Amino acid sequence: MATYYNENTILYQNGKFVKASEAKIDLYSQSLHYGYSVFEGIRSYKNINGETKIFKAVKHYERLKNSALAMNMPYNYTTDELIEATYEVLKKNNFQDAYIRPLIYAPANMSFAKNTECFITIEVWEMAPFLGDKLLRVMTSSFQRPNPKGFKIEAKAAGHYVNSILASQEAKANGYDEALLTDMNDFVAEGPGANVFFEKDGKLFTPSLGNILPGITRATVIEICNELEIPVEEKLFTIDEMKKADAAFFCGTAAEVIGWESLDDVVFPKKWNETVSRRIQKAYVDRVIEKETVNELV
Ligand code: PMP
Repeated sequence: MATYYNENTILYQNGKFVKASEAKIDLYSQSLHYGYSVFEGIRSYKNINGETKIFKAVKHYERLKNSALAMNMPYNYTTDELIEATYEVLKKNNFQDAYIRPLIYAPANMSFAKNTECFITIEVWEMAPFLGDKLLRVMTSSFQRPNPKGFKIEAKAAGHYVNSILASQEAKANGYDEALLTDMNDFVAEGPGANVFFEKDGKLFTPSLGNILPGITRATVIEICNELEIPVEEKLFTIDEMKKADAAFFCGTAAEVIGWESLDDVVFPKKWNETVSRRIQKAYVDRVIEKETVNELV
């Protein structure tokens, strides 16, 4: 198991910077018992000038707020104050390339009733940027994503991630690197913690919004496509259609842009280094460190 903190690690909790090893939460919290909390996954990078920069900080903290409000949580933080606290917690831990995990959690409450307050913690741990050399073997999951009529699927609520855990563990138990989940209508949805794209004849496709988490990396990839004049389309498609693709990748804050070798052992025919997906992967790596992308033609 990874270690996320040691005796020197500092986290932010409800306005204070405290030692991770001494921070406490209430074991009667509604969050722990029912998965009723919301969170974000953010990254900071050392940019080309050597400064620590949180990638898309405003977008992530706005999504955190929207997730909390979607769950009827009283949310009284400003995005500015949380971004400031995040930079401070990075500084106190001496981190530049890091993963940042803000979590909004509930007080002690064994009922399902609404709370009058909520709490926050921001935890950080070191994470080196990914170079994109590994390719994933992906398996179609036997689990579907949660039905959007049963959950507010656009919110990043902790309880939704039981579905992700089941799918990811199933894929690994079957010897694959990661799972691909469909939606309740059997269209391709997303990975357990990442959005998905495929490439066919130089064009990119990604599932439309509605049954997926609207990923900030997904939006960044679409932005990059528009800038590099790579055609991109949001639509619903099936697993069978994906298996006829030239290439595919997952994208997410933690995953960044990561190519696939195969889906259910069907190997993608195009060499990763010759795909437009690879160009996007490189452009993403440049973007997070604030380096200008040279629009190189393949
Ligand atoms: N889908 C799911 C289910 C996720 O958990 C994540 C990670 N937050 C993503 C997609 C990708 O979102 P983002 O690019 O905002 O990290």
